Amino acid sequence: MLNIVLFGPPGAGKGTQSERLIEKYKLIHLSTGDILRGEIAAGTELGMKAKSLMDKGILVPDEVVIGMIDSKINANAGSKGFIFDGFPRTIAQADALDKLLSGKNSSITMMLALEVEKDELVRRILHRGKDSGRSDDTNLDIINKRIDEYNNKTAPLKEYYSQQNKLNVIKGVGGIEVIFGKLCEAIEKQV
Ligand code: AMP
Repeated sequence: MLNIVLFGPPGAGKGTQSERLIEKYKLIHLSTGDILRGEIAAGTELGMKAKSLMDKGILVPDEVVIGMIDSKINANAGSKGFIFDGFPRTIAQADALDKLLSGKNSSITMMLALEVEKDELVRRILHRGKDSGRSDDTNLDIINKRIDEYNNKTAPLKEYYSQQNKLNVIKGVGGIEVIFGKLCEAIEKQV
């Protein structure tokens, strides 16, 4: 299996690049943000609980997203692999993911970490907010909170995967196709 953690702060381009990567490598895209927004749209209890946190730019509890990922991995047994987008976001999530995959005799192949300066992230998120319909993309305080959450709780995962020799850092600025080319190059070096 080819299991990729596509990593980076909000606005780094994970969603955009995931779309291209799943097409090229025939992988399943698992975005916890998308799954949570689906739960909100469906009006589920889980969605309603998550919404109050997401609207503030705060991470939802680990056990909620771990449970969602567990069922999606099980539902896609037999796939060629997964792109994890926006997951894991904490060390506890990364540990849980390692355990879930090893239970399937599999593992994370690599982390692709997109790096983008903060000013550019804010600019991109505000631009996306014009038509994403996401309230967390339009309010500057919430955007800053999301970036703080990333810096405090999520960025340490680079060290986690580096210790497993799986970290690949990619500059996430420039044309979409150029960045896609760099991601593909990194994938082909590792597999
Ligand atoms: P995203 O679409 O990845 O930017 O996620 C939007 C929001 O959903 C985040 O600000 C969090 O509140 C929540 N969220 C998404 N993925 C996770 C995760 N892996 N762990 C905790 N919260 C998450």
